Amino acid sequence: MTSEKFTIEKVLSVHRWAENLFSFKITRPNHFKFTAGQFARIGIKVNDELVVRAYSLVSSPYDETLEFFSIVVPNGAFTSHLQHLKIEDEIYLEKIPYGFLTLARYQEPIPQDLWLLATGTGLAPFLSMLQDFDTWKNYKNIFLVYSVRTLNELAYVNEIEQIRQTFGEDDTGFKFISVVTRDPSAMLHQRLPVLIENGNLEQAVGYQFNPQTSHIMLCGNPQMVEDTKEALKQRGLTMNRRGVGNIAVENYW
Ligand SMILES: Cc1cc2nc3c(=O)[nH]c(=O)nc-3n(C[C@H](O)[C@H](O)[C@H](O)COP(=O)(O)OP(=O)(O)OC[C@H]3O[C@@H](n4cnc5c(N)ncnc54)[C@H](O)[C@@H]3O)c2cc1C
Repeated sequence: MTSEKFTIEKVLSVHRWAENLFSFKITRPNHFKFTAGQFARIGIKVNDELVVRAYSLVSSPYDETLEFFSIVVPNGAFTSHLQHLKIEDEIYLEKIPYGFLTLARYQEPIPQDLWLLATGTGLAPFLSMLQDFDTWKNYKNIFLVYSVRTLNELAYVNEIEQIRQTFGEDDTGFKFISVVTRDPSAMLHQRLPVLIENGNLEQAVGYQFNPQTSHIMLCGNPQMVEDTKEALKQRGLTMNRRGVGNIAVENYW
């Protein structure tokens, strides 16, 4: 039975990045409008039961289809089934989007430098923001920092370069920094809070966090979010509340 809250969409494509990571695109119904950074609630039928999870939208708000980037959790109630997704399969899509990890939440400071810090699939909402021209128009500097465990989990690298070419101009000040935590030979391989504490992240970016100018978004692993938040607070940065402050976060579990 279809709940009134959902529409049934079709899978259009599936892309596998690694054994435990894949992306997929589904049809987008006309009524489904969202702001870059928001998430959808999507579902699949497992033994006739609808299992639903929150998924950030990778697509830009202007795309004709909806794209998602997923982990596979061994024995996960949702992803152990979702991982077998094929073209033409059905996905339940809740009719309204959710979430406040959007750039519109910032009133003060006014936009100047934007730091997008993700672990794993927490990259998804930032890809959506980076495919929105307003983001590039509003910020002088944009730093995308993407932390994974192993090199083969570094998805979307070519797409990020493509986004830079499409949306960035030569002087936009866009920097993409990857961190590979289980590869000591990677240029950056420590956890994000450590890289903030020891100054290596700012050194790699060539820019400093600044309570007067920085908007900083954290997304993904809750431990990373918590520890990074604390490291940033030590530097005088504040949580964004009612529009005011530097840091906005989304925990994935
Ligand atoms: C606002 C929001 C947005 C989300 N967006 C995404 C997204 O874009 N892509 C995505 O893959 N997941 C996303 N998630 C997580 C997602 O909702 C599910 O938790 C995930 O699909 C696993 O579902 P499951 O039933 O298989 O396992 P669950 O029973 O839900 O989770 C089991 C355990 O797996 C681990 N886990 C869960 N999600 C992840 C993850 N993404 N990466 C690494 N470990 C994880 C945690 O340890 C968790 O306790 C989001 C969650 C929230 C709250």
